[in-house]
Parts: sequence; structure tokens; C-alpha cells
Amino acid sequence: MPRPSSKERIRQFFLANIGTVVTSKQLRDAAGPGVSEWARRVRELRGEEGWPILTNNDSASLKPGEYLLTERPTETPDLAFTRGISAKLRAEVLDRNGFTCQMCGLTPGEIDPSTGRKVRLHVGHIRDKSLGGKDELSNLRALCSTCNQGAKNVTGEKPTAIWLLSQVRRAGQDERDQQRAVFDWLSRKFGP
Ligand SMILES: [Zn+2]
Repeated sequence: MPRPSSKERIRQFFLANIGTVVTSKQLRDAAGPGVSEWARRVRELRGEEGWPILTNNDSASLKPGEYLLTERPTETPDLAFTRGISAKLRAEVLDRNGFTCQMCGLTPGEIDPSTGRKVRLHVGHIRDKSLGGKDELSNLRALCSTCNQGAKNVTGEKPTAIWLLSQVRRAGQDERDQQRAVFDWLSRKFGP
């Protein structure tokens, strides 16, 4: 059996690490010995295939040499949903929202208490397209899978607190547990 190509190995590596920050060293190892073109393969996945892979150019939360596949790429894109939302625009939305679900405040890699699964972020419309909402930065927001499907009761956490949490994360100054402490404090202050 032929060995999978370096691109296929990188593809599989990303798919096994959705929502997890990976490093250039891991990608080089995944591509296989002697493969010098792993970075080009990553660019192809981002560019030609539209995979939502973020780098430090897209997000202040990533360091140089770190990559994050934010969600499972759609194999047959749902055109009604994805048309017009480029990988760049998605990255801008996620970065603006500090990689924080704008309804429940979770971030990728955290465990969603309502499902027990790792959080994945999507980009969703604030005003639905069926109601005339546009594919533009001001009408898009980061949502976790559960909230994106409208499947979570999110009356507990107030938008102000989530916005502040997003800004704290975006600043990239704090470790996650410190962010959580700030969020807990905000939830108490603004919460029900
Ligand atoms: Zn959510």
C-alpha cells in the first residue's frame, strides 16, 4: 500500500487536533521525515481548501509557529451558510470575540458541561440570513457547536460579562485559570 502523502498526513493530524493549538514542530513530525514543504501544505489547506486554520497572523492568542484548526472543515460546504464568509473573515470574527462563544463564554478545548464534549467554535450570524442578515463582520459572532444549534439554555450568563471575558482573552495576558477567575467574578457581579 502506498504511504499517504505528506499533505494527507498533515490533514489527518489537524483533524485529530480540532480545537487544539498545534506547533510547527508537531506539523513537521506529522508530515514525515525529509518533508520540507509542510508549511506550504498548511497554506494549501487554508487557501485552496478553505480550512479554518488560524496562525499568529490571525489571532493575538497564538504565538509564531502555532496553528489552530477551529472546527471540522465542511467536506461539502453548506453554501447557504458558508458563501461569502472567507477563512480570513472567520478568523477576524474569532479573534475579535477572543475565541469565546458569545452565548455561553466557553473556549475551544474546554469541556462543554452540557454535552461532556470538547468545545468547538463556529462562526454564526447574529441576524439570520433568512431575515436579511449579511455575511459581514458586524453580523457575525463566535458560537460553540451547542449554542450554534440553539441547543443551550444560556439565560444565566450576561452578554456584558461574556464581552468583557472576550476582551480579557483577546489581550492574551492571562492564563486560563486567571481568566476563569475574572469570569467567575464578572458572573457574580453581572449574573442572575
Ligand atoms: Zn456556547
